[in-house]
Amino acid sequence: MLRSSSASPNNRMGRVIAVANQKGGVGKTTTAINLAASFAAAEVNTLLVDCDPQSNATSGLGFAKDPDRLNSYHLLMGEASAEEALLTTELEQLWLIPAHKNLIGANLELVDTEGREFRMREALASLRERFQFVVLDCPPALDLLTLNCLVAADAVLIPMQGEYFALEGVSELLDTIERIRVGLNPELGIEGVVLTMFDDRTNLAQQVMAELKNFFGEKLCQTTIPRNIRLAEAPSHGKAALVYDPRSKGAESYIRLAKEIIERQPSVVSSQPSAESATTEVTEAHGGEQTLEEVPAAADTMDKSA
Ligand code: ATP
Ligand code: MG
Repeated sequence: MLRSSSASPNNRMGRVIAVANQKGGVGKTTTAINLAASFAAAEVNTLLVDCDPQSNATSGLGFAKDPDRLNSYHLLMGEASAEEALLTTELEQLWLIPAHKNLIGANLELVDTEGREFRMREALASLRERFQFVVLDCPPALDLLTLNCLVAADAVLIPMQGEYFALEGVSELLDTIERIRVGLNPELGIEGVVLTMFDDRTNLAQQVMAELKNFFGEKLCQTTIPRNIRLAEAPSHGKAALVYDPRSKGAESYIRLAKEIIERQPSVVSSQPSAESATTEVTEAHGGEQTLEEVPAAADTMDKSA
């Protein structure tokens, strides 16, 4: 069991993944919670940071609202260190930095502050050796909070609902990612695009999948997340789906997604023989690597009115 990323010489720094899409209700928080829990279940030290004032990732892991508890607002405002804000969870290898609705104020309070986009990156720097994955749950806006997440991240994971207008608004997100690469975080990559609430039995879903595959190529995750009632129920019990109902299709799909992402990180795979242990079904791993530059290039060819 690997308990510290520093155990692997190739992986001194953990991978920071921002789960982002400015469209509301596409499954960002469900993905952030269950992906982070699945990493932890695969015995990879994982930190989930709730960066959304709605605080759904916080309540979804069973933490009640508490304005006095240190949270991501205090990190952004420089009032607490990430270490001080860490909470342990039901899963041994999963930690949480919670949010509170006061986080909404950070957008305004930081507006005239120098280096305002780097606050989260700086706050998390001291933790990157301790966690192999840091998962950031972003709010449904391209605001200063999401910007902070994208500057702090190594890669963005974009959940998309497998519906007719799935691509709507995605060019705005890809343009933002490109602007951040040029100005603030040249290393920012795209971890993948994951289809959520997906019903592969319908023709429409198949068409949407084909369209997204055409657009994103290998960046479209092989794993899709089905619409599954257990995924919707689990947060009201304050649990990740793999704790609430480990045999549910929803829990299994996020375990597969975690495995797919872990397998793409050579340093994690080589030091992580037990990644399979949390996986009940093994699907083919993600295909050949696409260069990170290809996706935004494709965005230019997209019909922006779509
Ligand atoms: P917001 O933009 O408000 O932050 P979000 O993108 O984080 O939303 P979620 O909160 O994860 O989206 O999901 C929106 C709703 O859909 C929630 O009620 C959630 O329980 C439900 N949901 C998400 N994914 C699934 C799924 N695969 N199956 C069933 N219900 C789901
Ligand atoms: Mg959310």
